[in-house]
Amino acid sequence: MGFLESFSDIRTLLKNIDLDALGKLSKKVDLNRMMGVVSKMSEEDLGKMLKFMEAGSGKKKAPPVVNGDFYELSATLTGEDREIQLKVRDFMETEIRPIANEYWNKAHFPMHIIPLMAELNICGLTYKGYGCAGKSALLEGFIAMEMARVDSSISTFFGVHSGLAMGSIYLCGSEEQKQHWLPIMQRMDVIGAFGLTEPEVGSGVAGGLTTTCERIGDEWVINGQKKWIGNATFSDVTIIWARDLADNQVKGFIVRKENPGFVAEKMQDKMALRTVQNALITLTDCKVPEKDRLQNANSFKDTANVLRMTRAGVAWQAVGCGRGAYELALKYTLERKQFGRPIAGFQLVQDLLVTMLGDLTAMQTLVYRLSQLQDGGVLTDEHASLAKVFSTLRMRSIVDHARELFGGNGILLEYDIARFVADAEAIYSYEGTKEINSLIVGRAITGESAFV
Ligand SMILES: Cc1cc2nc3c(=O)[nH]c(=O)nc-3n(C[C@H](O)[C@H](O)[C@H](O)COP(=O)(O)OP(=O)(O)OC[C@H]3O[C@@H](n4cnc5c(N)ncnc54)[C@H](O)[C@@H]3O)c2cc1C
Repeated sequence: MGFLESFSDIRTLLKNIDLDALGKLSKKVDLNRMMGVVSKMSEEDLGKMLKFMEAGSGKKKAPPVVNGDFYELSATLTGEDREIQLKVRDFMETEIRPIANEYWNKAHFPMHIIPLMAELNICGLTYKGYGCAGKSALLEGFIAMEMARVDSSISTFFGVHSGLAMGSIYLCGSEEQKQHWLPIMQRMDVIGAFGLTEPEVGSGVAGGLTTTCERIGDEWVINGQKKWIGNATFSDVTIIWARDLADNQVKGFIVRKENPGFVAEKMQDKMALRTVQNALITLTDCKVPEKDRLQNANSFKDTANVLRMTRAGVAWQAVGCGRGAYELALKYTLERKQFGRPIAGFQLVQDLLVTMLGDLTAMQTLVYRLSQLQDGGVLTDEHASLAKVFSTLRMRSIVDHARELFGGNGILLEYDIARFVADAEAIYSYEGTKEINSLIVGRAITGESAFV
């Protein structure tokens, strides 16, 4: 079949020719000769020539928008929830991103952000009543993701206060305790911490807590140490978990910072989440009134209820850390030029970017479903543990690839990605290591406990 099939094809062709442009061109080149050469070119060579001509004409294609939400999961949020998500994003971009590296480097916490964060009105987002919004776990997950997308330290600070500390009171407190503490914590007038881990007991907290409590009259006396306790250098209250000498069960206490016998020392020289203030807490005959004992925390099972809820949040945080790293890397590859072109145009670079995006999208869809299970009231320990294992493993791989794409700049703090690589290490280990969460899932799918 010929190129031009009919007279009407010829008419269409003639209509589309810009005769002025053709006239100008004929003054520059021998048109007959050019048509001879072009007509002998292969499709592939023609394509290359057109691309080259477009580039030379100064018309540059705008690069696609950098967006780690490839399957558009945010689009499923209601208008009101999406607004909250975007409000948090705006806060993170304007208030946190510009200062994140500076505070991380100094290992200081930016105390001035607490009232600004309070204005977002997002503490205890899923709790019903007590000044809390009663929103979905799904929205809470998106918020954890938005925070970690910019700075995992800030999302950790928030998760400890809003999830672990407020959550302990929400799930294990008496009505009176909830009425008293939750509204002031929701407004961030009072900041909370959560003290479970000890210097000698981490993964084995379920059966191995050595911090003790003893009831003497209307008071409890607590003795022991807690390690790694986020926010505890400045928190107003810390939830302390201790073993009752009388019945050997784990109990929880709302310990105020001014309680005699409570000393919190800042842990120094961390290589991850440096902005988070982790404390080594020493409790020496620390006296706590019975009214500050969490009235509905009667055994480690109650502590585990809190951890199940917050572990889902950590999985979302891992997604945020991975998403932030992916987006930083993609943006960098579009801007960074080598061999005269953006490195994003190299096949091996695209391979890494696509691997990262695949991991990220798998993590996002997994935690999305996790939150649906949570909202449906059917979340199990093994659901939360699998999400934590999978997301933190993939996050580690994404930040690794992202750093690789930054070349040498990947180890400079000013390019942000080094902070993501370091912070991912802490997220990988806290709220249950990979091994412990794998053992929880392993026990569920085999019926065999392999913990000891
Ligand atoms: C930055 C940061 C913030 C933290 N914030 C808090 C906080 O606010 N409050 C709090 O209470 N805690 C906090 N933690 C503590 C955290 O939850 C613990 O670090 C974590 O549970 C692991 O305990 P561990 O560090 O003592 O490690 P270990 O328990 O000593 O584990 C060491 C290694 O042994 C492996 N292991 C242990 N037991 C087994 C087993 N049975 N089978 C196979 N492998 C096993 C672990 O998986 C790990 O790889 C924080 C930790 C970090 C790093």
